[in-house]
Amino acid sequence: MSCLFCRIVAGEVPATVVHETETTLAFRDIQPKAPVHVLLIPREHVPNAVDLNGDQLGDLFAAAKEVADAEGVAESGYRLLFNTGPDSGQEVFHAHLHLLGGQRL
Ligand code: C5P
Repeated sequence: MSCLFCRIVAGEVPATVVHETETTLAFRDIQPKAPVHVLLIPREHVPNAVDLNGDQLGDLFAAAKEVADAEGVAESGYRLLFNTGPDSGQEVFHAHLHLLGGQRL
């Protein structure tokens, strides 16, 4: 299995998991760009955000809301973003939703 995030889902690569559901996993970014920086991924391999179906998108956004609550940034606000394709800076080609917060961005 060559996909790094599939290996995190499989438990082969360590990650600090903060939330999980049947279809999603959320873990702390190893190079955080903000005090709260969590990546949310579908357990299923999907190369990038535009390949996600409606159910997968819904599950990721529902999970993001729960992570924001748990991380204490729901009231102060936070940023949700997908990098999509090389020019965006996407490095890992397993769709992931960045949740950034904990400071004025
Ligand atoms: O959107 P992009 O593909 O650039 O984001 C990939 C993110 O995955 C980076 O922010 C990087 O720090 C993170 N990462 C991680 N754990 C790894 C490898 C990369 O959190 N083992």
